[in-house]
Amino acid sequence: MTAVLSRKAIWALLSLAMLGCSSTIHLDDQFFAFGTLIEVTVFDTEPETVQAALDGVRNDLAFMHQTWHAWQPSALSQVNAAIPTGTWITLDPTLPPLLEQAKRLSQQSQGLFNPAIGQLISLWGFHRDDGAKPPPPPASTIAEYIAQAPSMDDLIIEGTRLRATNANVRLDLGAITKGYAVDRMIEHLKALGIDSALINAGGDLRAYSGPGKRTWTIGIRHPRKATVLASLLIKADESVVTSGDYERYFEYQGQRYHHILDPRTGYPPRELISVTVVHPIAATADAAATALFVAGLAQWRDIAKRLGITQAMLVDQAGRVHLTGEMAGRIRFEVDPKPEVLIYD
Ligand code: AMP
Ligand code: MG
Repeated sequence: MTAVLSRKAIWALLSLAMLGCSSTIHLDDQFFAFGTLIEVTVFDTEPETVQAALDGVRNDLAFMHQTWHAWQPSALSQVNAAIPTGTWITLDPTLPPLLEQAKRLSQQSQGLFNPAIGQLISLWGFHRDDGAKPPPPPASTIAEYIAQAPSMDDLIIEGTRLRATNANVRLDLGAITKGYAVDRMIEHLKALGIDSALINAGGDLRAYSGPGKRTWTIGIRHPRKATVLASLLIKADESVVTSGDYERYFEYQGQRYHHILDPRTGYPPRELISVTVVHPIAATADAAATALFVAGLAQWRDIAKRLGITQAMLVDQAGRVHLTGEMAGRIRFEVDPKPEVLIYD
């Protein structure tokens, strides 16, 4: 898993173009959390501020990893263990805002982003760190699971307590936590007065800078080749998040089974191989990239509208690229020949 994710990290950040003054201090650091490499780049005029910022980010990450992890011992895994009792569960104070945001995005996506399907993700063998790849679950097991239909609507959240009305809910926030964590760290850096920064969590990134200070050129990796497919420029404060079938997968009898599951069928959807979403908020972009991946070619535009997403790039199995008009206006392809491109209003 690590090798695949860190390869993704390399392709996420192509380069950055600096327009700022020469007295600015620039520091990079790398951390490991949520099963991926987190790269942090900060700029400021004061070296002490820069060091404090990187120390702060390190502490933030360690805390978030320990609190929100879906299967390693964490505050979230304790919630999951208590859900079948049907009683009120006291939450770590960082969980209610994250769960409320996840619930809202899940509803807006018509349940295609559904962090209540932890049991299904576990059935497919994606809740393990040992690299073992069990065969796909039997169709009958998946059918039994789907009949239980756990969703975020089954959660009642009141203040810092939670109760589930469906005993099969298990929370796996893997499709939103990296984006949500990036948002929290960016808030932290802004509060420290940092001029500009970029945080790249294995290809889920957010960058900001003061007006006229500097721009960032972001590379989006090719889902099938070790190269950059396209690039785009970030000027103020924006997130770019990609979901792909290459991040975590196994092959069984010649078929690729990846880690993004369709909550309606219980199986990995096959139409798309990567989805990139650009949005001011990284958590929204993260949940939306997963939801559009599940939505597929027939439904993605409808789901994007419901989630307020106007900038998206989808790559299908045939290698065709589907773009919203807004995305088409800013993306630059970095491959020759250019792929077949379809642009939608
Ligand atoms: P991402 O890379 O953001 O698309 O997130 C994928 C991760 O989210 C997987 O590894 C699972 O832990 C989880 N996941 C898979 N399918 C879904 C889904 N339909 N809704 C919410 N979370 C999902
Ligand atoms: Mg996601």
